[in-house]
Amino acid sequence: MRYPTSKLPHIGLTIFSQMSALAAEYQAINLSQGFPDFDGPAELLNAAGKHIQAGANQYAPMSGLATLRDAIADKVQRCYQRKLSPDTEITITSGATEAIFAAISAVVSSGDEVIVFDPAYDSYEPAIRLNGATSVHIALVPPAFEIDWQQVEAAITPRTRMIIINSPHNPTGTTLTEYDLARLAAILQDTDIVLLSDEVYEHIIFDGAKHMSVNRHAELAERSFIISSFGKTYHVTGWKIGYCVAPKSLTKELQKVHQYLTFSSATPLQAAIAEFMVAHPEYEQQLGGFYQQKRNFLNQALAASPFDLTPSAGTYFQLLDYRNVSDLTDLDFVSWLLENVGVAAIPLSPFYKGGYQTGFIRLCFAKGEATLSEATERLCKI
Ligand code: PMP
Ligand code: GLN
Repeated sequence: MRYPTSKLPHIGLTIFSQMSALAAEYQAINLSQGFPDFDGPAELLNAAGKHIQAGANQYAPMSGLATLRDAIADKVQRCYQRKLSPDTEITITSGATEAIFAAISAVVSSGDEVIVFDPAYDSYEPAIRLNGATSVHIALVPPAFEIDWQQVEAAITPRTRMIIINSPHNPTGTTLTEYDLARLAAILQDTDIVLLSDEVYEHIIFDGAKHMSVNRHAELAERSFIISSFGKTYHVTGWKIGYCVAPKSLTKELQKVHQYLTFSSATPLQAAIAEFMVAHPEYEQQLGGFYQQKRNFLNQALAASPFDLTPSAGTYFQLLDYRNVSDLTDLDFVSWLLENVGVAAIPLSPFYKGGYQTGFIRLCFAKGEATLSEATERLCKI
């Protein structure tokens, strides 16, 4: 038979999977794909086992366990002073990835345009394309990687259906400010554009800064899917439990997709997270400090390296400016690092339309000190 032509002809294996596989092949220190090399809290892990043993092994409700939706509503109230209805405004999903796909599929149609900021997390574009829409790319340029709001205003057309923001931002580690949200709200005011706010690193923010969640901005929140992931907050990326907060009418549309994409997400893991959240409502407050220490450790250790660094403002990623070291493209440079230095990193160009070369690469610092020590020693020898 003749197989159908690819719906995603330009999409290959993600750069995260590629780099992690190469790191294993070369036995390099893997600071590429973003995941912690340590476990989440023992109490959380034990709770998952306990719920499996206790029989929480059948389908969860489509929108998620009520206990978990209640715990999320409490958290959003505590952190951002927004009152949510757990029944109509919260959906538990199989990771933020599913929430992103479901949100885009729920409202983006053929012929629509979706504005994304490059470097853009890699799951946005395929979801936009599979729904027959086109992505309109606005490049964030080094060294500040800030959004130019005038450019956003100019990019809006009658076809613009959605804008996707991500703060704290993967891969640059930058964060949006109150000013950014105010500018965005002013631009969107008289439009029907939906906002997707990817806030999976909401609790990983440094130097005493406050995360500017869209939950804090009533006007924007009214038109937004706000997406987060427990994988980041509780160091359990493999659990793939995330959630989406949205007004009732958007939630209703999101759930129409979610119920046929996965229907529901792992019951015992939801039960364990809910139990842990209720027992430790303060947990997320120490997360910024925990990762800030790792960021500082990495930055201090790399002070003696030939790389230029501006400390990351959030996420567990740090950018390195390698232009003093090499004039290779970032893809060639990460290959060189892997083979000659034994450290795996992530290039930025795969996250830019047209493969724009920034001269920066990304390191993940969600690792134990011994790993970070060994990696930075190797990088300092360059
Ligand atoms: N958005 C961003 C910006 C991410 O970095 C990630 C995961 N690293 C996701 C979404 C997906 O999260 P999850 O693993 O919960 O699907
Ligand atoms: N989001 C993780 C990162 O940025 C990777 C997730 C994945 O591999 N799909 O590295």
